[in-house]
Amino acid sequence: MVNIVLVSHSSLLAAGIVEMMRMVMQQSQVSIAVAAGADDPSHPLGTDAAKIRDAIEDVYSDDGVLVLMDLGSAVLSAEMALDFLAEEKRNRVRLCAAPLVEGAIAAAIQSSLGASLDRVAAEAEGALSGKIESLSQRAGTDAIAPQPSSAPPVATDVQQVRLVVENRLGLHARPAALFVQTAGRFQSDIRVARAHDSRQVNAKSFNAVAALGIRQYDEIVVSATGVDAADALAALQRLAAEKFGEADDVSADQQPLSPLRSADAPPGALRGIAASPGYALGRAVVLRNVEPQVERLAIDDPAAEMSRFSVALEAVRSRTRQVRDQIARRHPYEAAIFDAYLMFLSDPDVLSRVQQIVERERVNVEWAWQQVVQDAVHAFESLDNDYMRARAVDIRDVGVQVLTQLLGHTAVTHVDQPGIVVVDDLSPSDTARLDPANVLGICTERGSSTSHSAILARTLGIPAVVGVGPAVAHVRPETPLIIDGFAGLVWIDPDESVAADYTAKLAQWRVTYERAQKSSTAPAVTKDGIGIEVAANIGNLEDARAALANGADGVGLLRTEFLFLDRTTAPDEDEQFEAYHAIARVMEQRPVVIRTLDVGGDKPLPYLHMAREENPFLGQRAIRLCLERPDLFKPQLRAILRTAAGHRIRIMVPMIADIGEWRRARSILDETIAELRNRGVPIPDHVDVGMMVEVPSAALLAHIFAPEVDFFSIGSNDLTQYTLAAERGNTSVAYLQDGLHPAVLFQIRQVVQSAEAAGKWVSVCGELAADRQALPILVGLGVKKLSMSPGSIPQAKELVRQLTLRDVQQWANQALTLESAKAVRQFIRRKLATIGEYEG
Ligand code: PEP
Ligand code: MG
Repeated sequence: MVNIVLVSHSSLLAAGIVEMMRMVMQQSQVSIAVAAGADDPSHPLGTDAAKIRDAIEDVYSDDGVLVLMDLGSAVLSAEMALDFLAEEKRNRVRLCAAPLVEGAIAAAIQSSLGASLDRVAAEAEGALSGKIESLSQRAGTDAIAPQPSSAPPVATDVQQVRLVVENRLGLHARPAALFVQTAGRFQSDIRVARAHDSRQVNAKSFNAVAALGIRQYDEIVVSATGVDAADALAALQRLAAEKFGEADDVSADQQPLSPLRSADAPPGALRGIAASPGYALGRAVVLRNVEPQVERLAIDDPAAEMSRFSVALEAVRSRTRQVRDQIARRHPYEAAIFDAYLMFLSDPDVLSRVQQIVERERVNVEWAWQQVVQDAVHAFESLDNDYMRARAVDIRDVGVQVLTQLLGHTAVTHVDQPGIVVVDDLSPSDTARLDPANVLGICTERGSSTSHSAILARTLGIPAVVGVGPAVAHVRPETPLIIDGFAGLVWIDPDESVAADYTAKLAQWRVTYERAQKSSTAPAVTKDGIGIEVAANIGNLEDARAALANGADGVGLLRTEFLFLDRTTAPDEDEQFEAYHAIARVMEQRPVVIRTLDVGGDKPLPYLHMAREENPFLGQRAIRLCLERPDLFKPQLRAILRTAAGHRIRIMVPMIADIGEWRRARSILDETIAELRNRGVPIPDHVDVGMMVEVPSAALLAHIFAPEVDFFSIGSNDLTQYTLAAERGNTSVAYLQDGLHPAVLFQIRQVVQSAEAAGKWVSVCGELAADRQALPILVGLGVKKLSMSPGSIPQAKELVRQLTLRDVQQWANQALTLESAKAVRQFIRRKLATIGEYEG
């Protein structure tokens, strides 16, 4: 490949050109180096021969290096740089007189087709012809006509197709590049001309194609001669049918995307929040949450009241334990919600306050209990931590259950025939008690996707749309409904065509779901043979077992916090070793990435006595804390290193924001390794050590980190939160928390490109990895490892098997041109439909 060096007075200008070159080159192997600007911040413009020499050395290839420069001293500096090079290299470097922007784009395309240095230079030098041609046409002259780049061969066996270019801006740079690249993949000689014009040009030359100045609805004639002529024409025909990669490009079609328009539901549907994926068709089972009415009654016998209370409490405790155990069998993490319930039901402070009210005021226990619960709910609601505020819902739920028990009412959640539950809101315990065999779907008036009931619906595999609004209150029992838990849509009494459409979608989804479960342990390989590792995010030993059961290729993220939370002192080295070792043993020889401690900030540990912070997410979290507390960090590193003896352990450091932090962490690790070796403790010769990319500074400077790390793992949850300045878990800014935002995608691409250049690998381990709409884009951006919660693995692997790398690369490139996460989701939904995938 001929590689390219850009020389400019301005580093900003050069960066912009590189951006444009990458857009037209797709995922090509061409390397680009930049020598631009001066290092003096007060005089940032300038060029420097030594920098140019270094840039040439960086991308030197025996196939050649083309150097493009802007003006004035750039030319002089480039000439000097040549003098610094060894003679044999100098002969393979060409200084090119092309205009910088047009030349760079033309060179990038030609080089990505594998052309020679002469050919790439010629294309770059002829790069202005397209612009001159187009402007002269506009001025009514025909000064420079497109020149055939070489005479068409005399051939008897010419095949032809006629194509209409529908793109709004005609064959402008991006579609023209795709056209040329597609033609360039075939051996045949391929020519293109406007219809009714005999002048043909070489379809493999970007300049020549661009110079034709094809506009919207122009007809072109493509002729091919050679062994693969038919295939070439078919490929170009397909490309035209797909509007040269712009079929769904909202920005290319210049449709303004108002947030209101995209948030609107299709006619006849109501839009809510997509809380649990899946489709459901059925009749409404309307449940009404009636808050038990409690009266204040005088009583004579407080002891009798308290004994009634004990019986009711024990009944609710025992039901809660049953629910917890039922959930824990498959989903231990979610089961912990009910541990918190049990703690409240046995909290000595709560119980003694109930007793005091009953005894002092001589009132009924229902009244006393309601007072204590209301106080606790208000206390949680007034906290300034969103997560804790959401827990008020859980306490209210426990409160209602005890009251229901005391008053002898029955639970509202009994569903005795298959249907879609319609309710104003569902508590976690109601959700957990729903029988998935009868509950086809859930539709609620209120609620958010982060509530525990939404988490449980996902856990139980019940499709759910929550927060649909007051219209839900008017749904009558037995009304036919459709729930689309992917798009967050609800149809009340849908017409036949919608019902038929969803019947088909449901059938397809079921087939995919079942196929995915059956083939979960098989590797995930795209249709064109690219293997994608699908690993698990786990938090304890139970999760590790679930990971294996779901076919995980390894553990991509072991959150070690589980060992440190809910206790009064930190776990010592041996306790940590036992825990990590048990997990490593379960995973056998599969790789396990252990993340060092990510606490502090919003997850303070009382025993660390940390100062209260105004903005915990911007505070002393994760590695920032560990660097301050080697007494916490080093025992963990020792435990991990000891586990690594005999297992495929990798170490991952969270929340790195600056190279200095990385180097300090690395040196503490090196020190720990040396200490263990001195003590004769067996540890492997080498352990891979990588960093999480969760902070935009780390993504933007990934090329600085890349030479020093063994791998990157992108924590999309935090990367999204920090990129969009939208706190995760804060529902009022939930509309911003979407990792498919192009601003996040650009950073992911930056990380992948930097990693590839340094020969390192990249994984994505945030929620985004399991998102059906995001997964193809991530693979298209070049991510080869994904890590997600164990339950998502079978579906993710199955989706990978339906993808073709070439397609998803194109989708990813197009996604990068869109304006918002919403636009990306609309786009990818249509793309998934084209490959017969349910939309996700
Ligand atoms: C992330 O931020 O995406 C991530 C995986 O880490 P956590 O969710 O544990 O913060
Ligand atoms: Mg994180």
